[in-house]
Amino acid sequence: MGLRAVKQIIPSVRTIEGGGFVVRRPFPTADLPQVDPFLLFDHMGPIASSPGEAKGAPDHPHRGFETVTYLLQGSMQHEDSAGHRGSLEAGDVQWMTAGRGVVHAEMPSTALLERGGTLEGIQLWVNLRAADKMIAPRYQDTPAASIPVVEEPGLRVKIIAGEALGTRAVIETRTPMHYLHVQLTGRSFTQQVPEGWNAMVYVRKGRGAFGPDRVPAAEGDLLVFRNGQGDVLLEAGDAPSGDPALDALVLAGQPLHEPVARYGTFVMNTRREILEAFEDFEAGRLGRIERDDR
Ligand code: FE
Repeated sequence: MGLRAVKQIIPSVRTIEGGGFVVRRPFPTADLPQVDPFLLFDHMGPIASSPGEAKGAPDHPHRGFETVTYLLQGSMQHEDSAGHRGSLEAGDVQWMTAGRGVVHAEMPSTALLERGGTLEGIQLWVNLRAADKMIAPRYQDTPAASIPVVEEPGLRVKIIAGEALGTRAVIETRTPMHYLHVQLTGRSFTQQVPEGWNAMVYVRKGRGAFGPDRVPAAEGDLLVFRNGQGDVLLEAGDAPSGDPALDALVLAGQPLHEPVARYGTFVMNTRREILEAFEDFEAGRLGRIERDDR
């Protein structure tokens, strides 16, 4: 099997999200509305805040897709309209299948709010096929300790979804995909990607070379590979500092090839379904977050 060529490199756009969160967002943009089945990729932070200053995303609804939060630094807390409450620590993943709808809040932890600190994470939106858009909401809150990691000299691969190096993830996905956190120094790594899937790599830190032509890319760049056949190759040089030379997220997924109607935090197939989502939200049918002390 050959290697997939890099189709485009997208430098991330810094934007402000939610309650004032700084994020780098390689897509959606006017030029790249999605990388089917992935609808959005946000690199939140790293952002250092003083006591009382940390920002989050207060109550908002979702319908029709999945939000996947991978926390890299800091701690966050989450609560929603179904009474689900939890915290996310560095290295943890929350895979939330919004399905027919939830209202949730994603905020820095109380400790981080009170004392200040650094927050960094990756939020990914994964589309659901038409038949799955109205399924019941589901959470897979997955602590770092239960997410498989494969280590070799110069290589560390954390398998968030799918499979790599013969190891399978514990998180289940509705849409077949791979989601890997790869750290690489002084060597290359090749990920098998089934024919017809879309594939991309986001450089979180450092730099590397990608694909058969060893296209260079650095922090904040998203590389989208040509669809078709072939595997995805990442390569990194030496790292005198001791940190990995390349720290990257690898994503590949089976495209849905369905129409996408999106507005804000709703992603459906038709404009009519978006209007219904708004009506349901406004009528309270997506629920509300019960808080007794605030
Ligand atoms: Fe959200």
